Amino acid sequence: MGKIKKQDILEILNKYDKDEITIATLGSHTSLHMLNGAKEEGFNTAVVCQKGRDTPYRRFGVADEYIMIDEYKDIANEDIQEKLKNMNSIVIPHGSFVAYAGLDRIEDEFLVPMFGNRDILRWEAERTLERQLLVENDIRLPIKYNDPSEIDRAVMVKFPGARGGRGFFVASSPEEFDKKIESMKARNWVDEEDVGMAHIEEYVSGCNYCIHFFYSALNDEVELMGIDSRYESSIDGIVRMPAQDQLEVDLSPSYVITGNHPVVMRESLLPQAFDIGDKLVDAAKKLVAPGLNGPFCMQTLVNDNLEVIVFEISARSDGGNNTFMNGSAYSYLKYGEGMSMGRRIAREIKIAIEKGELDKVIT
Ligand code: AMP
Repeated sequence: MGKIKKQDILEILNKYDKDEITIATLGSHTSLHMLNGAKEEGFNTAVVCQKGRDTPYRRFGVADEYIMIDEYKDIANEDIQEKLKNMNSIVIPHGSFVAYAGLDRIEDEFLVPMFGNRDILRWEAERTLERQLLVENDIRLPIKYNDPSEIDRAVMVKFPGARGGRGFFVASSPEEFDKKIESMKARNWVDEEDVGMAHIEEYVSGCNYCIHFFYSALNDEVELMGIDSRYESSIDGIVRMPAQDQLEVDLSPSYVITGNHPVVMRESLLPQAFDIGDKLVDAAKKLVAPGLNGPFCMQTLVNDNLEVIVFEISARSDGGNNTFMNGSAYSYLKYGEGMSMGRRIAREIKIAIEKGELDKVIT
């Protein structure tokens, strides 16, 4: 079976009753405000939910319909796809949807109309493709080291796959790299194969800003929707200890996201933020058409030279969007009302339906 073609999706969309569209997603990640925002824009909503995990959706009352599944990954099963299509569903992808359904199945088997660009999801998941998107337009990113023997300053070492920051470590010499790898092997956090695939990059000593944009394909405009900063275990717990204790306990920190804080940037940094967002949208249009339609996020660190350095991107709704379920400082400036990312997505779909341009925002 080959990749799903846009034409196949458009044929399904043609059969939909456009007055009865349902916005659906997997119950996890950023689904609460997606469904809530869809209701605010007047849509029916459906949550595809793993049995036993439905409490938040029922308590907050964000879903009109529940499709219960045994395991998250079942969202891509044929019978669930049929149920979604029978409800005239447009599915909104997010980080958990991509992780559980799997890129191969999303590209080859998931024949339900989705918001955004399904082909770009692979670009954020694979580090070399992600770097290509950034390098294409001279976006400042951490310097990459091709071999541990080259380490000449503090570096961050990362491993492939969705480990959520577990096992990342900092080293400042080849010897320290080897020592830390040995200790990680002893904990079974990495094996020999992982070591060969370690990604080594400059450690950026700076503050974390995850900048959330929405690219409107209808208006050809990049909108700054909000900014968050990560709250990560165990590093954010460790730094609360006095330095002396940190040395004595000799803990190896991990960088597992447990939550997010809303933040704003120095106003003088905003031109850089917009510039990088615009460049990324341009690069994506060229490299993986139609581009970064919909929500995307640049995870950045800002150093004391006031450089905004991008270390990661999300080419779909990012978890930090949960910090502005009722709007952010920035979405207030643009909309003057509680505009979450979920509501912005639903509004784009609503306008696309009104203009007869759904094909521009669906894949
Ligand atoms: P990631 O899984 O790539 O999102 O990274 C998890 C966390 O590791 C980030 O939120 C940062 O706290 C930290 N981090 C990642 N890359 C770097 C870097 N190049 N320099 C400093 N810290 C980093």
